[in-house]
Amino acid sequence: MELMNKFNELITKQKAYMYVLQLSGWDSGTEAPRGAFKRRSEMLGVISGELFNLQTNQEFQDVVNGLFKVINELDDISKREIRKAKKNLDKIINIPKNEFVEYNKLIGLSQREWEDAKENNDYESFKGNLEQIFNFNKKFVKYYNKVDHPYDVMLDDYEEGMSMKEYDEFFNTLKKDLVPFVKEVLNSGKSLNDNFITDFYPRDKQKEFAEYLIDVMSFDKESGLMKESVHPFTWNTHSTDVRFTTRYLENFMFSSIFAAIHELGHATYEQQIDPKWDDTTLNGGTSMGIHESQSRFYENNIGRSIEFWEAHYPKLLEIFPEQLKEVSLDDFYRGVNKVEASFIRVEADELTYPMHIMVRYEIERMIMNNEVTIDELPKLWNDKMVEYLGIEPKDYAEGVLQDVHWSAGLIGYFPTYALGSAYSAQFYYTMIKEIDVEGLVKDNNIKVINDWLKEKIHKFGSSKTPKELLLEVTGEEFDSKYYIKYLKEKYGKLYL
Ligand SMILES: [Zn+2]
Repeated sequence: MELMNKFNELITKQKAYMYVLQLSGWDSGTEAPRGAFKRRSEMLGVISGELFNLQTNQEFQDVVNGLFKVINELDDISKREIRKAKKNLDKIINIPKNEFVEYNKLIGLSQREWEDAKENNDYESFKGNLEQIFNFNKKFVKYYNKVDHPYDVMLDDYEEGMSMKEYDEFFNTLKKDLVPFVKEVLNSGKSLNDNFITDFYPRDKQKEFAEYLIDVMSFDKESGLMKESVHPFTWNTHSTDVRFTTRYLENFMFSSIFAAIHELGHATYEQQIDPKWDDTTLNGGTSMGIHESQSRFYENNIGRSIEFWEAHYPKLLEIFPEQLKEVSLDDFYRGVNKVEASFIRVEADELTYPMHIMVRYEIERMIMNNEVTIDELPKLWNDKMVEYLGIEPKDYAEGVLQDVHWSAGLIGYFPTYALGSAYSAQFYYTMIKEIDVEGLVKDNNIKVINDWLKEKIHKFGSSKTPKELLLEVTGEEFDSKYYIKYLKEKYGKLYL
């Protein structure tokens, strides 16, 4: 169809601009010197402006709206592309350009100001930015007149099809079924032989093990690479260029091991997407939640299993003979699954992690519902930490100021982390019916698991919605009971 060809032509141009912006993002996340910040943001500002024009100009609007009118005549793939494009367009098209520009400036500045505020433990200096960021977002979603509640629009931005109603149900179940269990585990009084966790592990040796892990996970080095960064992340433009980072903390080796396995999960997903989607708007993983389900599956279900360490602890012992000489496999396994109430989300263990997300979801929900003022956030945060984990942050840096998300305008993002873990449990219980996951991990044959995920999930890119994938792979809609079952089975055995 003529109009569809035009659509593809315009998308290719947009993608070329995105490619340049993404490459620059990799550079700034890994190697660019700090001093490059100012000049880079000026230049990137120009390119982002051009991209925004391409995404909103009359020509593109006409093509998308034209195709949307005849959507029933399109093939299934084009239908999905045009629906997505139309929704994206409707979300931004009524935002006045000056407000959009002002907001982007605010976000650009807020990143730096948040870093300073966190470092100086100074909420007062940052709360004005926070208030403006939330207000802009409330205003923007009003321009998109399609849903009853502003927060629903934002939740859908990060996880297609999810709304407050469904998340409320999910978190209420966690509150009812998981919070009491977490308290039981935390109060079990089991102590571990875990001094080895904070021993000294030289950076170069950690790197040697991270490189070993790349091969264990069957990552394709032809089309990908690993570097270092302060905050580990995965980056990709298409299936043949997938990069990720880890970090080496010399007194906390687990950080590099599990960051590497986690990011390898994201990276494997991207590498296994069928290249046929590269020319379409359906390349890349389908949602934040599904992406996180893959990274957490590799990190937790595989990487923190006894079978994994039966296979790979000998290698770790070979690299760190001194540090680990008195640590048995069982001690080590318990160490990597240590549960404790802690303040910082990114350092939280698998079991207490969803509590951290619940705190953030409930607070975002209240802000978007105008049920709390920005002044009241630090206290609200601390109260919720006491309620769910029994600990109270002593300052803003380990409380309300700890995450980068809000300063970057990422509102509605947090719940996808917990949702991803829950998805991964549901996928896991389907997978073990079809392949011997424990045996494969023990035999160091993760390739077979990768292949299963490729066939069932990865190869489809974004051509299926998260809900379609879940239903097709597991035969059921999303159900949090699998997540609760998984956590109770694993940690009940370890702690109770
Ligand atoms: Zn992740």
